[in-house]
Amino acid sequence: MEFVDTHCHTHEMVRRVTPVYDKWHGDGIERTPEDVIKAAHEVGVGRMLCVGTTYEDSQLAIEFVKNRENMWASIGIHPHEAETALAEGHLDAFRGLVGSPKVIAVGECGLDYFYNHSSKEAQIAVLKAQIELALAHSLPLIFHVREAFDDFWPIFEQYDGIRGVLHSFTDSQANLKKALAHGLFIGVNGIATFAKREEQLAMYRSIPLANLLLETDAPFLTPVPHRGTINEPKYTRVVAEFLADLRNESLEQLAEQTSESARQLFRI
Ligand SMILES: [Zn+2]
Repeated sequence: MEFVDTHCHTHEMVRRVTPVYDKWHGDGIERTPEDVIKAAHEVGVGRMLCVGTTYEDSQLAIEFVKNRENMWASIGIHPHEAETALAEGHLDAFRGLVGSPKVIAVGECGLDYFYNHSSKEAQIAVLKAQIELALAHSLPLIFHVREAFDDFWPIFEQYDGIRGVLHSFTDSQANLKKALAHGLFIGVNGIATFAKREEQLAMYRSIPLANLLLETDAPFLTPVPHRGTINEPKYTRVVAEFLADLRNESLEQLAEQTSESARQLFRI
């Protein structure tokens, strides 16, 4: 059985380019990337996508996956980082990363009005730039959208031919429907394991298996029963087990279909 972690930040273990590095090293446990990759392989998590959040972080993801088998990079500027990217004039250099080896997607990119670390205007400009970059290179997009679907959909609908995933999806049935109508995949991570509202659990149940993707967002969002420890790609399997149980599917079936979807979307 194989599982694919379609969204992790494992590359950030090796060098501090964002505070995610501190998260990886914040629990006093010594671990190398090789330890983390080996632990993932041992439970069937064979493939991993390292997702960039800034220009420098995307460079690091590319460098990290270069000589590592079954790992790929996505280049992205997170909505939190949109203002900095514009202020520091990083967009052109960022675009230049797109042809690097093993870059299989653009993102994470999107809109986050929950934290609003960047202005809406900056977030929208940087999202559009990344959609256009992905379309110009026929790459899928990894979207991060939080409390911002009312602005996200009109932007999305300005473009034809977007392929991608709504990563860490926790939103409403209505936005799920809309995403499915647009042919998007739905990325589910450890948040599902500590979701309490019946409405949200029902939403996870109603995602068609063919549109479901597994992810961890490691080192964040550790699933139950490992809360309080640092999340690692190996827990993709825990998310899969939880979902198989919740959705009344066999783990084999869920592993097979989600891995096939990851292959299709990212051409890995
Ligand atoms: Zn992420």
